This record gives sequence, structure tokens and C-alpha cells, in this order.
Amino acid sequence: MRALVWHGKEDIRCDTVTDPEIEQPRDAIVKVTSCAICGSDLHLFHNFIPAMLPGDVMGHEMMGEVVEVGSEARGKLKKGDRVVVPFTIICGECDQCKRGNFSVCQTTNRKKDLADKVFGHATAGLFGYTHLTGGYPGGQAEYLRVPFADATHIKVPDGIPDEKVLFLGDIFPTGWQAAVQCDIQPTDTVAIWGCGPVGQMAIRSAVLLSAKQVIAIDHLPERLEMAEAGGAITINFDEESVVERLNELTGGEGPEKCIDAVGMEAHVSPSMPDTVYDRAKQMLGAESDRPHILREMIYVCRPAGVISIPGVYGGLVDKIPMGQLMNKGLTIRTGQTHVNRWTDDLLRRIEEGQIDPSFVITHTVSLEDGPEMYKVFRDKQDSCIKVVLKP
Ligand SMILES: [Zn+2]
Ligand SMILES: [Zn+2]
Repeated sequence: MRALVWHGKEDIRCDTVTDPEIEQPRDAIVKVTSCAICGSDLHLFHNFIPAMLPGDVMGHEMMGEVVEVGSEARGKLKKGDRVVVPFTIICGECDQCKRGNFSVCQTTNRKKDLADKVFGHATAGLFGYTHLTGGYPGGQAEYLRVPFADATHIKVPDGIPDEKVLFLGDIFPTGWQAAVQCDIQPTDTVAIWGCGPVGQMAIRSAVLLSAKQVIAIDHLPERLEMAEAGGAITINFDEESVVERLNELTGGEGPEKCIDAVGMEAHVSPSMPDTVYDRAKQMLGAESDRPHILREMIYVCRPAGVISIPGVYGGLVDKIPMGQLMNKGLTIRTGQTHVNRWTDDLLRRIEEGQIDPSFVITHTVSLEDGPEMYKVFRDKQDSCIKVVLKP
């Protein structure tokens, strides 16, 4: 089959690889009808997260049709079922899965020893996302083996186009969880850093969860336009001071709730000296992530507020102002998304027309054009916000 394969830093190719087969009784094979490039795939593209190996198949946002089912998955899945595949592989049976903490499933990471060593504890297996999370082949491919498929799926009805439900596998529940973790009250201002795909979903989620005011921060006109269309007030950080403007919009109080939808690769600019410092430390190998957004959020967040972090971080950060964080009594909530905790509710909201996540798609191309689209998406050329691939 054809698949997008990681060969090294900024080197992804569309290759012919071996077709996946049923390996375990709980497996299923899905014929992928649509998949997407996620912002977090760019961290792998840049080789910022260790433990990718040449030959790894990329992709963790995908859906399709079940074409084969292992003997132990047959009660829950059958050939012909239409499924979205969550990016977190879950067993549905361990203590964490029973609590709904799916992204820290204790069973599905088959490289547990490596992950235990790096993170202290292994987290769930993820598709197409390094050997720290199991080294499972991803779904930017014609076919995907879904391990623990009896639990790891979201059934979707026929008759809804792929584009409306595809993002149930990652960015929609990711933006939603980021907003839910803010425990939004009707009097709250929610500020969201980063208007990429997850930021866009967080904006719409905060609006659906009845925030008084949603403020979105970015510097790309097309992203800010989309944020505004979703109901946000926008701040262009190239043109105005984020801290001053946020204080202005909140009567000097600061936003009660702050969401970091940027993560480890914050924009670097001489106008934000700490970002230059981070880049220099990164080049020396003395810091892995650039936490500019975290510093800004901690500084501007209203005391007793919440900081929610869906943005991906990989390792160590420097100069986090613990004094501000502690004395202001801020709460930090974070985590990879517990996808299946949210998807019944979110599928219903899509079916009822409360939201149509396809608004975020700007480019739809073939799998063969995937490698080129990684660059277009990374460089935000051609007003690219979200890419869907059709294998
Ligand atoms: Zn993702
Ligand atoms: Zn589990």
C-alpha cells in the first residue's frame, strides 16, 4: 500500500510499504477514506520529539471502513462499519480507561520500558507518534491496523460526509477538552493563544460552553479571520502587545481562563526576547521546548484562574515563573486528549448542527501530494490552515 513515511528531519515521502495484517485477536484493519495532517505532526517533521525511526508511517487523524476484524473484536465491530479512529489507542479495561483517562491507558503502549524511563510512567499507545508511545504505524496510509479495535474506535453513521466527522479523532475533542478543563463560567473571559486547527476548535468550544468573551491570539490574517468568524475577538501579536490588550479587554483584571494551543515551538521574534533566548538554548541542546506562551499566560492570567494546555510539549523548559504561578494561585490543567471521553457528546452536537468542524479545512489533496503539503502547512503558504488527504 501507499503511505507517508518518516525518513528523517524534514523528510517525509510517499512510499510503498507492506500492507498491515491482523496480528492480535483484538485488531481490525481499516481502509482509510480520509486522513489529516495535524499541527503536532510538524513537531515530528522537525524532529523535535525524539524516538522516531526511519520507516515509521505518519498520521494520527483518520477514518474509514472496517475491512477485517480479529476474532476478539467481532462483538463490537464488523466488516463495513464506518469508523473514526481516535489517536489514542485504548484497551477500555485498565484502571485508567475505566476512569475515562484514556490517554494514559496502562495497557496499549507496547514500548512501556522506554516510556517508563523517559516520563516516569508509560502513557497510552498513539498512532504514528514516536516509539515513546508505542511506535504504532499511523493512518496517513491506504490501510491502518487498529490494535485493541473493539475499544479503539468511534462509530459514525452513514450519510454524514467524512469532513464533518473526521476531526472527532483528534483536533475537535482536543480543543473541546482544553475548553472543558477551563471549567468555563458565564462571566469568564477565555483567551486562546494560537489559531491553528486546535485553537480554532477551542474557540468554538469555548463559545459553545457559554464563555462571556473569547479572545484569540495569532499573527496570520487568515487564521485571525477564521477565529473572528467563530465568535472571537482577535489580537495580532505582531501589531499590538498581547498583555496590554488582554488587560484592556478585561478591565485590567486579566482573562480568567487561558488556553495554550501553541505548545513547544512558539514563534521566535526579536520583539519577544525570551523566544530568542529559548532558540539559543535549544541550539545548544540545553532546552528542548520554547515556552514563551506559558510565561505570558502565567503573567497575564487573572489570579485564581486556570491555564489549560492542549499544545504539545516534549521535554524540558526553562525560566517558568513559579513565583507568579504560586502566588497568583493558578491552576494548570493539561494532557493528551481522552478522545473517547468526549466523542459521543461531540458526534451528537455535529448531528444536531451545533457545529460543523469541516470549517477548518483549507486544502484537500491526494496522499501522493502529502509530502509537499507538509511544507505548505509548515510554512503557512497559500493560507493553509488544515490539510485533508484522500488515500
Ligand atoms: Zn494531533
Ligand atoms: Zn486502558
